[in-house]
Amino acid sequence: MRELLRSHAGRAATLLSASVFALTVGATAQTKITAPKNSYSPAQDVELGQQASTEVKKEMPLLNDSSVDDYVEDVGRRLVAAIPPEFQHNEFRYTFDVVNMKEINAFALPGGPMYLNRGMIEASENEAEMAGVMAHEISHVALRHGTAQATKAQKFQIGAVAGQILGAIVGGTAGSVIAQGSQFGLGAYFLKYSREYESQADILGAQILARAGYNPREMADMFRTIEAQGGRGGPEWLSSHPNPGNRYEAINREAATLRVQGPAPSDGRFASVKSELSGKPAALTAEQVAKGQGGGNQPVGTSGRAANVEPPSGQYRTYQPGNFMRISVPANWQQLGGSGQTVTYAPEGAVVQGQGGGSAFTHGVEIGVAPNGTGNLQRDTESLIQGFAKSNPQLQRAGGYSRVNIGGRQGLATTLSNVSEVTGARELVSVSTTQLSDGSVLFMIGVAPQREADTYGQTFNRVRSSIQIAEQR
Ligand SMILES: [Zn+2]
Repeated sequence: MRELLRSHAGRAATLLSASVFALTVGATAQTKITAPKNSYSPAQDVELGQQASTEVKKEMPLLNDSSVDDYVEDVGRRLVAAIPPEFQHNEFRYTFDVVNMKEINAFALPGGPMYLNRGMIEASENEAEMAGVMAHEISHVALRHGTAQATKAQKFQIGAVAGQILGAIVGGTAGSVIAQGSQFGLGAYFLKYSREYESQADILGAQILARAGYNPREMADMFRTIEAQGGRGGPEWLSSHPNPGNRYEAINREAATLRVQGPAPSDGRFASVKSELSGKPAALTAEQVAKGQGGGNQPVGTSGRAANVEPPSGQYRTYQPGNFMRISVPANWQQLGGSGQTVTYAPEGAVVQGQGGGSAFTHGVEIGVAPNGTGNLQRDTESLIQGFAKSNPQLQRAGGYSRVNIGGRQGLATTLSNVSEVTGARELVSVSTTQLSDGSVLFMIGVAPQREADTYGQTFNRVRSSIQIAEQR
């Protein structure tokens, strides 16, 4: 995934007008930041964030330790109070929860809900380092980066499908091909940022830290620590907050223009919280959470076997997902996932709720849009597949590319083979892609058991050839 975001981020930066610029008043002036264009209202940020937060609370293992939560909350309050007035929104409610997960990660949802992994606290050397990550997250919220990214894609009339955000959180480390598909849906706009937005959040984060009494250089140190902990799989945080380039130097340069205000917070509470954490049973890994091992607060689903699934009907029914395309699918398939940017069409019994988060389907198709393409369809398709493969170790290539027509455009199709995590049986995964006019990539993933590959292969071709795209330029 990290490779995916890096390659995409470069392109996004060129598409956007630069909105971080230095004042020319003098070397000591702090950087002036302009929030990006946004067609959502702050109230919509709050609404979308609340929906997503409800999902997160159901699915993620919260630590629920009041002394740790209170401490993180106090640090958060201090930072929120230091947000420059021009980026304060009365509607926003900043909340802070600690997730009992090992990965060095944190994320914040539109309008204010923030989730900080226990692993992030454990990796911090002192309170200011932890506050550095939090100030960076708060900056994304205050600058409304999530809905600004969605604004760029608004011609697709994205619905508010908060559930997809979860796929982007948990799906990053584990989950089915299908949960992965959701990573390229709305969640991609809310949780994965372009390099330009990363720069903005670093700079505003540094300013907030200084105003709150922390040395902003500690944030730069924390990012170094995070990078150093790369290792296998890499810290999740970096895949959603890619290094915009010379991150450490840029933060320190900004720090040189800032005056740290007020008394420095003492590290006494930080030390006692850290020692309390070290006395607890180890935090869960994202993989354990995705597999429902002691994970989510959700009752365990009926995972294990797919029910009997009817073969695809010869009758077709037409849908208009996202208001920019039409697609016909067998009449006994249902549309799932609403009018969001990722929709699934599957027969009854083919969708199995995963344990501890996400869902998988054994038969059907998922359609979605991956933002920020490179302009090279084959390369973008490879990136998508690499994203799927990262969390699906059994996924294998089963053929080369063939050229296909999708909605009157040139497209590519390829076939993969996977082992279903629902049934344990080998499954066919058919991936088709085409480029939309803004450079994003429309994809269709068909999934069926290998033993039914003949029937479903034909169905997927027919569904694909039914696609019509009506983009407004
Ligand atoms: Zn970020």
